[in-house]
Amino acid sequence: MTNAATRLAEIRANIARVCKPARRSPEDVTLIAVSKTHEAPAIQPLIDAGQRVFGENRVQEAQGKWPALREAHPDIELHLIGQLQSNKAEEAVALFDYIHSLDRPSLLTALAKAMDKAGRRVPCFVQVNIGDEAQKGGCPIAELPAFLEQVRAADIPLAGLMCIPPAETEAAPFFALLAKLAADVGLSGGEAGLSMGMSGDYETAVMLGATHVRVGTALFGARG
Ligand SMILES: *Cc1c(COP(=O)(O)O)cnc(C)c1O
Repeated sequence: MTNAATRLAEIRANIARVCKPARRSPEDVTLIAVSKTHEAPAIQPLIDAGQRVFGENRVQEAQGKWPALREAHPDIELHLIGQLQSNKAEEAVALFDYIHSLDRPSLLTALAKAMDKAGRRVPCFVQVNIGDEAQKGGCPIAELPAFLEQVRAADIPLAGLMCIPPAETEAAPFFALLAKLAADVGLSGGEAGLSMGMSGDYETAVMLGATHVRVGTALFGARG
């Protein structure tokens, strides 16, 4: 049985290993530990091992466990990686440091309003519906340039693009496509983040330019 600290070290080593042939620096890749469904006792060993960046997919669940954990470790950075309903925008802006699921005008409006009210600008990744799947969230590829303009006009800090490739298929072409889209629309500097890659494919994602990988199962074990 391996513990969380060992798994964390292994994943960090894997990221460093694939950075080499990709001529990238491991410091340019943020490992987001996806702690959804896991409670504080499972999360604490990772904090003790030095992990500070965590991801959750539900606002309510995160509200239940993170304020207390953060009190002890104010340097923790919290990322919302799951779909967000507009009526939860205020709560999301209050709790999270990054939002990865900005994908539609109605949510953009709600987030801009929430940020104005809170006096706090939360950087957002625009989620792209990279596999053109009807049931999935994400901005359609054809609408991306116009949507990015709307994000800028609303004064929402843009962190980059995010995607969840179709399940049960090779992810690499979708990661490459997300990187190409970011280049095509001219994202650069702090706006050129690429949030892509999960437990099964984070190494591939890093080789293809991911700046943020979202890893749950490989760190915490299977979700109950
Ligand atoms: C749950 C989740 C992850 C992590 O998935 P694992 O396969 O457990 O690593 C990454 N991204 C999103 C959006 C998720 O909902």
